[in-house]
Amino acid sequence: MFRKVVITLFLVFLFIFINNSRSQDIPLIRIGIAKIDGDAYFSNVGRMATDFLDMKVEGKGYVKIKVKNGSGFIETNNGILGVTLPLRIYPDGYYVNYNSNYYRGYFEILPSGWLVNVLNIEEYLMSVVPSEMPASYPLEALKAQAVASRTYALVNKRKHGEFDLCNTTHCQVYKGMRVENERSTRAVMETIGEVVVYNNQPIKAFFHSSSGGFTEDCKYVWGEDLPYLKGVKDSEELLNDTWSRTVNFSEFINKLSSADINIGGNFSIELEKTSSGRIYMMYFKSSEGIYYIKGTTFRNLFNLPSTLFDIVINGDYIIFSGRGNGHGVGLSQKGAKFLAEKGYNYKEILKFYYQGVGVAKWY
Ligand SMILES: [Zn+2]
Repeated sequence: MFRKVVITLFLVFLFIFINNSRSQDIPLIRIGIAKIDGDAYFSNVGRMATDFLDMKVEGKGYVKIKVKNGSGFIETNNGILGVTLPLRIYPDGYYVNYNSNYYRGYFEILPSGWLVNVLNIEEYLMSVVPSEMPASYPLEALKAQAVASRTYALVNKRKHGEFDLCNTTHCQVYKGMRVENERSTRAVMETIGEVVVYNNQPIKAFFHSSSGGFTEDCKYVWGEDLPYLKGVKDSEELLNDTWSRTVNFSEFINKLSSADINIGGNFSIELEKTSSGRIYMMYFKSSEGIYYIKGTTFRNLFNLPSTLFDIVINGDYIIFSGRGNGHGVGLSQKGAKFLAEKGYNYKEILKFYYQGVGVAKWY
């Protein structure tokens, strides 16, 4: 009996211990900043380390590093020191400055030349949220963005192999400390560790700038049918979020032929649309034959804001008139703004764009 109690107590203790250590453990994330080929300049450096060396940096903490063919060279007033990569660059008490921008955490230069910023996810989000959404948006919209971006980051670890995520729209826009803002930082702090889950697992939390009135079902964009990424009717205000692009006829023909669509002067266009109104497939019928192209491929080819558009041929010009901005899948950022203004809180906003999900504290 006594033994049982002891074991139970031990288990309870272990559980509390694990729980506590989990709640304090904010995961680190590795962000690819730039590929260095040649010289790179850093300041506010306190220490540099490789697998074999550990160096204190004196003075102003200003260093010039040359990267060439997988090797690193640290240039100082006393000469040039060749070092093995990876080279880790730590701050001197403040934050390391690279390219006139301060970064939290530390840097690593990999043998491939990639400069990677290593920092914890919450610090990363302090820059991602205002890079991805205007910090002037309502707090609940910013909190929804923070939770979506945190979920995206956790689910996409190792997306780039030697580092986790890049710093562009390919992954999530991250601009260092320069863009940090009190309001977006508050949104990160007030949702610390929270992620969007479906069946207790973090989801693929896609988001985009504006849905133009309707979000898109994931399967039409990436072919993957996910139960929580169905299209929904978004805020009506977004029906007014319109755009228009004009290209001349010869440019239109040339661009199409670069995608192996060779239509002559006489052709007709047929559009196959999804239930959200986006173009899924376009068919070009001419005496040369019938060609087809996916709406998403066509959007990239002509650099259009979205696939939610119509085409009008007017003499020598082709006019695209559409709505929204981005792929249309998942959370619509402008839509989140309107929902927040209508009184939705961040969890309600997330559940509006991701169906059947919950918000859970992950750490
Ligand atoms: Zn990327």
